[in-house]
Amino acid sequence: MRHLLLILGDQLDRHSFVFDGFDPIQDCVWMAEVSAESTKVWTHKARIVVFLSAMRHFAESLRAEGIRVDYRKLEDFENAGSFVAELASAIKRLKPQGLILVEPGEWQVREDFRLIAEALAMPLEIREDRHFLASQADFEKHAKGRKQLRMEFFYREMRVKHQVLMDDGKPVGGEWNFDNENRKSFAKQGPPLHAAPRRFLPDTITRAVIDLVEQRFASHPGQLADFDWPLTSQEAQLALEDFIENRLSDFGDYQDAMWTREPWLFHSRLSVVMNLKLLNPRVVIAAAEKAYRTGRAPLAAVEGFIRQILGWREYVRSIYWRFMPDYINLNSLDAQQALPGFYWTGETDMNCLREAIGQTLRYGHAHHIQRLMVTGLFSLLLGVKPRAVHEWYLAVYVDAVEWVELPNTLGMSQHCDGGIMASKPYIASGKYIQRMSNYCSGCRFDPAKSTGPDACPFTTLYWDFLMRHETRLKKNQRMSMQVRNVSRLTVTEKAAISEQAESIRHSLA
Ligand SMILES: Cc1cc2nc3c(=O)[nH]c(=O)nc-3n(C[C@H](O)[C@H](O)[C@H](O)COP(=O)(O)OP(=O)(O)OC[C@H]3O[C@@H](n4cnc5c(N)ncnc54)[C@H](O)[C@@H]3O)c2cc1C
Ligand code: SF4
Repeated sequence: MRHLLLILGDQLDRHSFVFDGFDPIQDCVWMAEVSAESTKVWTHKARIVVFLSAMRHFAESLRAEGIRVDYRKLEDFENAGSFVAELASAIKRLKPQGLILVEPGEWQVREDFRLIAEALAMPLEIREDRHFLASQADFEKHAKGRKQLRMEFFYREMRVKHQVLMDDGKPVGGEWNFDNENRKSFAKQGPPLHAAPRRFLPDTITRAVIDLVEQRFASHPGQLADFDWPLTSQEAQLALEDFIENRLSDFGDYQDAMWTREPWLFHSRLSVVMNLKLLNPRVVIAAAEKAYRTGRAPLAAVEGFIRQILGWREYVRSIYWRFMPDYINLNSLDAQQALPGFYWTGETDMNCLREAIGQTLRYGHAHHIQRLMVTGLFSLLLGVKPRAVHEWYLAVYVDAVEWVELPNTLGMSQHCDGGIMASKPYIASGKYIQRMSNYCSGCRFDPAKSTGPDACPFTTLYWDFLMRHETRLKKNQRMSMQVRNVSRLTVTEKAAISEQAESIRHSLA
């Protein structure tokens, strides 16, 4: 055998760099389902099913093309349980002359493969992941000489480089960013009528994986009764078409809004298939731009959507690779609290958290503002150890892969990277949640109150956060208004807030 092509669970791309120069006579694909990937964090059952079933479908499609695939199933008797052990055994069996791997989505996995190849004296070629629109070299060029790495400037460069929403060298509509038009909440009666997203009900392969996961990972969090994620490139394309047709137009207006028992609203649900590499971001961006150019969706919605993919998605990946391996250990706010147990059950009186976590456990999904301004905000205000928050986000979302999850959690949400990603912490009181959702109307707490038996814990902890970090936040101009408000509190009010915050922390320790 000449080359063994190593394909990981989030590298299911037939056009990947790994296949360049592939010879079906001399080369073979290697794929392995290993239990360590489901247990290193306490992984949601739906996330395990997504990866395993998508891998099995991908392997089937390669075999249908006549490609030889050496595939280790989770339930195989000889399964050694880890990549390292499985790869060592495959090398012994197949005796390839060399290994080819595309950059994995996790720093440690890349290290593991490097070390095993070194230990076995096996040449390993690591190729760039051309799924992404920015290479690490592109980002280094962008970063050179800059004091701060802000997404907005990177995004503008990407727009120009890839000629997305550009006319004659200028941004379409004369503006780079229509974010101000994209922060609406719903009226009292709730979201306007909209079609539910297209569902992809489990086929025979997925049903077998569901049974396996229910059996092997019975104690893991999450439910599978509603499982309907797209798991092949054909399904991914149908999911994209469904979004463009039915939800893109309202995506901009309502991307920050939340509503009880409305998990999807106008979001695309495409992160899963993009992160598995079943759907190319260029295809998604082109489809969205076409919808604008053909008058099927307004510019603010299309620009807002494209910014998430061409801007945020590429930017967070670049941050990950630039700052790993140190990034994962950052804790610049010295947060030391344990993650509250209700993050794994949804059992809490706080309605917003009950909704966001309940939905997460049911579907393995919550949308961006639920992740940032409900679950993320609460752990930031409470002062939870960033490592524990990271492990929770990596475990419970079907789209979680470390390159995208880690900077979002540590940088954007917990602000524990010293401001690498965000110029200020995303903090707010319960009033923000009240403005952006109907959660507070079904809650026993009052978002306007910071002390007393019915005070909203978000509001108490918001003021407490400002007081605890006042010295640091004072130095940040973008925080000056929020910090100034602290000085309006009397000494007695401050003491009552601190006492109530301490009691919340104590009860959740
Ligand atoms: C604490 C926290 C953790 C997160 N963890 C993940 C994660 O593990 N995996 C993941 O894909 N996204 C993560 N995100 C970003 C975002 O919440 C999800 O991408 C989004 O909710 C996925 O749903 P959707 O496909 O319907 O997205 P839409 O709202 O329809 O957005 C369109 C696409 O834009 C991209 N996108 C949007 N926001 C971001 C962002 N901040 N970073 C990167 N890409 C973005 C995604 O690919 C998404 O599919 C996280 C955000 C936060 C605040
Ligand atoms: S009152 Fe506070 S805890 Fe209750 S839903 Fe609103 S923000 Fe959440």
